[in-house]
Amino acid sequence: PFRQRLLVVANRLPVSAVRRGEDSWSLEISAGGLVTALLGVKEFETRWIGWAGVNVPDEIGQKALTKALAEKWCIPVFLDEEIVHQYYNGYCNNILWPLFHYLGLPQEDRLATTRSFQSQFAAYKKANQMFADVVNMHYEEGDVVWCHDYHLMYLPECLKNHNNNMKVGWFLHTPFPSSEIHRTLPSRSELLRSVLAADLVGACTRILGIEGTPEGVEDQGRLTRVAAFPIGIDSLRFQNALLVPQVQEHIKELKERFSGRKVMLGVDRLDMIKGIPQKILAFEKFLEENPNWRDKVVLLQIAVPTRTDVPEYQKLTSQVHEIVGRINGRFGSLTAVPIHHLDRSLDFHALCALYAVTDVALVTSLRDGMNLVSYEFVACQEAKKGVLILSEFAGAAQSLGAGAILVNPWNITEVAASIAQALNMSAEEREKRHQHNFHHVTKHTAQEWAEMFVSELNDTVVEAQLRT
Ligand code: UDP
Repeated sequence: PFRQRLLVVANRLPVSAVRRGEDSWSLEISAGGLVTALLGVKEFETRWIGWAGVNVPDEIGQKALTKALAEKWCIPVFLDEEIVHQYYNGYCNNILWPLFHYLGLPQEDRLATTRSFQSQFAAYKKANQMFADVVNMHYEEGDVVWCHDYHLMYLPECLKNHNNNMKVGWFLHTPFPSSEIHRTLPSRSELLRSVLAADLVGACTRILGIEGTPEGVEDQGRLTRVAAFPIGIDSLRFQNALLVPQVQEHIKELKERFSGRKVMLGVDRLDMIKGIPQKILAFEKFLEENPNWRDKVVLLQIAVPTRTDVPEYQKLTSQVHEIVGRINGRFGSLTAVPIHHLDRSLDFHALCALYAVTDVALVTSLRDGMNLVSYEFVACQEAKKGVLILSEFAGAAQSLGAGAILVNPWNITEVAASIAQALNMSAEEREKRHQHNFHHVTKHTAQEWAEMFVSELNDTVVEAQLRT
């Protein structure tokens, strides 16, 4: 049967490549949200286009990697070190990421950023054009091209300039800042215009700080459809993982290790947007105010290292370590500490086991596009029916708000009180809240999200053709 081809363009390919020799590579699929979302979508023939995360300066290496990736339906974009530095570390991670999450930079960094802005933006455009060149090379008539995230805001325009008939969608996984924030960006109009060259623009929640009609946004006589598409997870993958014997074994071990104590869990990349210090300070306040709980509760914080070469992130790491050390010194005993803080990632099965034994999950993002951790926790809680404490600044607050306890992560008094409320909650109320969230998470899956976006994109193009 004919299947429409879907070209998914994202900064990173869903594989990590490690070079084993002059012409040999080993590849590992990294199952991020987007990958699992699209693995479930069987009605399209999906191709991935993106950067493999490694610098490959020589032609032999590039050829070998291209060949190896083709087996995984992946097509590489080769970026050299200088471009990666300016486009990825610079413009994407140092300028767009903090801005889109409403994070200020320290004054001196801001000035430095202002100075390097032009060259970084130039590199950003150049990199986006390199992605476009690869798309153009592989595009066949009738394909749908789906561009992802803030790394590729300039891509829709590059693609449309080359071929105005191409079906182009663009999706933003982060929050979009309010217009007052967005207008501080020197390249503000150029970026927005470029995004609006797409046929369909989507994000998890509210989109764009610009005025639009229900049909979309009109710019220079051209209407672009703009809509919210809340992303989800492949909930069955998590539910099924809990049935695997090793996972069950692991669950049993964890239960024994923490028996007699309630387990609270945080799982975040160690990023400023996740509000990790705020979360830990709130937990400290809770211990301070509830002496009877001190030896009956433990907080497990998985802090996945990210962007470790950026000074801001190194500062955050030591800041968090200092707070954790202080609290463990203050409330620990000879045999137990209240906080287990890990600077590492866990494999999928270990993560599922941890979600399953958790009594209270704590998500305190200061801003977050959606926050899939909250969804994954809910998917693993059919047995336990634990409580989710969720930041109102995470996109997930709009979907899981009725089942979770919503908090303002900046208000540690409120978060501490919510921890107490969660730990003392009756089984009936936990059950009721869990059912609400579980229903949502299992119904609105990643697969549904991807199907909705692509079918909307197809419809939008048909409607546009009818209008002309
Ligand atoms: N995750 C992981 N290994 C870990 C911890 C987390 O693979 O050790 C995954 C987690 O399952 C989730 C993702 O990382 O799918 C985090 O997504 P989220 O939307 O919560 O935040 P992001 O990191 O995208 O800002």
